[in-house]
Amino acid sequence: AGVPAAAPALPPARHLFSDPAEVEALRRNLLAWYDRCKRDLPWRALAAAEPDADRRGYAVWVSEIMLQQTQVATVIDYYTRWMQKWPTLQALAQASLEEVNELWAGLGYYSRGKRLQEAARKVVSQLAGRMPRRAEELQKLLPGVGRYTAGAIASISYGQATGVVDGNVIRVLCRLRCIGADSSSPAVIDRLWDMANVLVDRSRPGDFNQALMELGATVCVPKSPLCGECPVKQHCQAWRRKLFGKAHPVPDVEDCGVGDCPLCPPATEPWDSSLGVTNFPRKAAKKPPRAMRTATCVLERRGCHGAPEYLLVQRPSSGLLAGLWEFPSVPLAQDLQEEKEREELADYLQVWMGQPVAAKGLQFIGEVIHIFSHIHQTYVVYSLHLDGDVTLDPALSPSRWVTEDEFHASAVSTAMKKV
Ligand code: SF4
Repeated sequence: AGVPAAAPALPPARHLFSDPAEVEALRRNLLAWYDRCKRDLPWRALAAAEPDADRRGYAVWVSEIMLQQTQVATVIDYYTRWMQKWPTLQALAQASLEEVNELWAGLGYYSRGKRLQEAARKVVSQLAGRMPRRAEELQKLLPGVGRYTAGAIASISYGQATGVVDGNVIRVLCRLRCIGADSSSPAVIDRLWDMANVLVDRSRPGDFNQALMELGATVCVPKSPLCGECPVKQHCQAWRRKLFGKAHPVPDVEDCGVGDCPLCPPATEPWDSSLGVTNFPRKAAKKPPRAMRTATCVLERRGCHGAPEYLLVQRPSSGLLAGLWEFPSVPLAQDLQEEKEREELADYLQVWMGQPVAAKGLQFIGEVIHIFSHIHQTYVVYSLHLDGDVTLDPALSPSRWVTEDEFHASAVSTAMKKV
């Protein structure tokens, strides 16, 4: 007690953008490249042409939520259908969760659609349909909108000069400034946000942020970046280091990389010249995904027109794949014998159908593997043909019989389509 805490030292200059002339030049070069090379994307067209500010914010918001964890090429079609079906916040607020899940089916990370719709309802009912205009308010008032999404909506739709940091930006900034400390650590992430806020162009913030992300998506890509074509290579410390074999000499470079610089790679894993610029960024090793086994049964009956029908049941409204439909499925303990797995499934089906199900009657079809973000899921697939009808217990989860076409139009996950 009584000893004043030392002020945190500023990181060495090679990790910062401290020269205003360089910042200006970087903005200019990046924006000129973006104007020449940007991809034509439906949400960009809407953000540029939509005169109504609330609709504009909504259009950008939907695109940002869909783009989280999902490739641009996959999102385009979903986005177009979404905006046709629900062009405004008001339209989305009136949709049912079932409709949202049906449109979202196949896009993954299903809670995103649900949260988006809940947030739209909040804007309509509590904010009189008016989108907050500033990043701080967007993040505070809209459920499911984090710091990144708030910054993207505020800068792209409303011209607020605020930076954004996503996976692409992390990669570009770590390379521009040779940041080799764990890029998922809060200390490094905080620095990157500071940097993004310093860099963002004051008159074209939305374009600048999109340009930085676009650079990461198309030029400064993870594995083989196209440094020769890069519009900001003259500002890139990693590129210089690769070319000249050592860090660009800056006044205090001697302080960096030898002591305990918080942004340099750990001293035990210095620059690997075979990796070049892809020395950056670095991440602490990820936890391996959790392995899970689930037995699932495709129950089939003859429908009234003779076509086969399949039983779908609805998952709980929270947790993984919330509210989606699936074939009746039961999680299994690891390392069960096949016979045991079959019995577990038969017992589970019996509860559903209120009548005995013979484990031997279940026909083994095969296994389907599906990787969710953090789960390595194996579905052990069985089928069972029913002769008569069954009465399902209405006290259990909602369930329904569907034809194959109806199955494909339902809110089912990609994993169930594989099954
Ligand atoms: Fe990325 Fe290479 Fe450009 Fe540096 S020069 S920002 S590493 S593409």
